[in-house]
Amino acid sequence: MNENKARRYALLSSKIIKGLASRNIEAFWAPTSEDALKTALSLVPKGARVTMGGCASAVEIGLVDALKRGAYEFIDRDAIEDKRAAMLAAYDADVYLSSANAITEDGVLVNIDGNANRVSAIAQGPRMVLFIIGVNKITPDLDSALKRARNVAAPINAQRFGLSTPCSSTGACADCKSPDCICCQILITRFSRHPGRIKVILVGQDLGF
Ligand code: SF4
Repeated sequence: MNENKARRYALLSSKIIKGLASRNIEAFWAPTSEDALKTALSLVPKGARVTMGGCASAVEIGLVDALKRGAYEFIDRDAIEDKRAAMLAAYDADVYLSSANAITEDGVLVNIDGNANRVSAIAQGPRMVLFIIGVNKITPDLDSALKRARNVAAPINAQRFGLSTPCSSTGACADCKSPDCICCQILITRFSRHPGRIKVILVGQDLGF
């Protein structure tokens, strides 16, 4: 990343982390993927039951590989045939890995979902939710966060999963109600009632979509 751009994000991270702290969400700044991996592994207790909901950012920083190789019980939902069982197992996990579709400069997290397994696990169930969020997800405010989720993240994910939605063919949201819609549920996380349950690692590089 360009040096000035990296400096801007490093400066902005203090505001975001302060905003998250005001919402009972513990946050860490990791300038690089390597730093993010170290921080994540320091937060996940050995022996923990860990799972995730399609978190490309956790894959990109090498966290999923490290957890699969390490002394953890990694629940690989893709390897479980019974999708309902995999979904229910996630609610009882010690740690749930996720990214966010957007994060505002004052620390509000925005996530959209088709099946709602991810947003429901973020809202309730797993003992800890660990977000890995690249700086490309930062938006100035809630309105722009919702727009990013619908106009950037969703079209890319719809294309990634080969879904038949207007955004997968145009690249922009048409506020559809198509059977493949991945914007069925929109979760705005503005406060965590349970201290320590939600943690965020903000990473100084682009990750995910
Ligand atoms: S077109 Fe449909 S699936 Fe695509 S972003 Fe809009 S609401 Fe979501």
